[in-house]
Amino acid sequence: MRTGQDMHADASASTQADPADADAAAGQQPERSLSPSRATDFMTCPLLYRFRAIDRLPEPPTAAAARGTVVHTVLERLFDLPSTARTPEGARALLEPAWAELLAAEPEVGELFHDDPSGEALRAWLESGAELLDRYFTLEDPQRLEPAEREMYVEATLTSGLQVRGYVDRLDRAPVTGDLRVVDYKTGRAPGPDFEHRPLFQMRFYGLVLWRMHGVIPRLLQLVYLGNGEVLRYEPDEDDLLATERKLAALWAAIERAQRTGEWRARPSKLCDWCAFQSLCPAWGGTPPPLPEQS
Ligand code: SF4
Repeated sequence: MRTGQDMHADASASTQADPADADAAAGQQPERSLSPSRATDFMTCPLLYRFRAIDRLPEPPTAAAARGTVVHTVLERLFDLPSTARTPEGARALLEPAWAELLAAEPEVGELFHDDPSGEALRAWLESGAELLDRYFTLEDPQRLEPAEREMYVEATLTSGLQVRGYVDRLDRAPVTGDLRVVDYKTGRAPGPDFEHRPLFQMRFYGLVLWRMHGVIPRLLQLVYLGNGEVLRYEPDEDDLLATERKLAALWAAIERAQRTGEWRARPSKLCDWCAFQSLCPAWGGTPPPLPEQS
């Protein structure tokens, strides 16, 4: 289980901390590596990137992020069941154990339901997760799928020397052609056309990593939006992924520049509504803490 504040970014998506960064936690200076979540953070707001990747400030749990984690766990475990048991009822039965597992791994998520002695809010929250799972079955038939990989950690080093990494929710391999399909579940709603570039960037990112890992460009990148039952499909090509590689090199150069100068600019946007750091943000009248000393 990828626990807690996960990278299954939905609406608040890029506003979640990234477990792919956990192994980099020891150093205050960012390693020369980037995950899609952190890349998106920097593009959204350099100061947000700083709070997460440099200061490594904790963020309170949210019901949406916890639900995302639990639903992703169920969708991963669903494929442990025999194909005939991969039903909406079978998925619902996995929900409470996934919640119990998250609670054991991250007791602080229990705070979400502290003021709920009747258990009503927890039941409603679990039901909202079950509804997302029900919707999943309107989009795919898991009885006909045998994923090649689930919750797959991917990592590659680009020609610039930048390490790129993250977790792919599911990787399917076509039995005859061997074509790869990357599938990512989102528990939010699909963005409008003006905002599709962010999730598509994430998918191109994974397409690039897999290309570098296996020497083969995935045939299809697919985002499954459980919030409103839409599926976004995208067929990457070489030019596209090379452009993504150049973009990542430029992004990393900008991160290193901010690291050198100490200038992490706040870039207010609608996403500030989901930001846990408003009280520390100059755009909202706050003062960031001193930068951690560099080792
Ligand atoms: S509140 Fe907005 S501007 Fe400030 S750090 Fe968060 S996302 Fe950036």
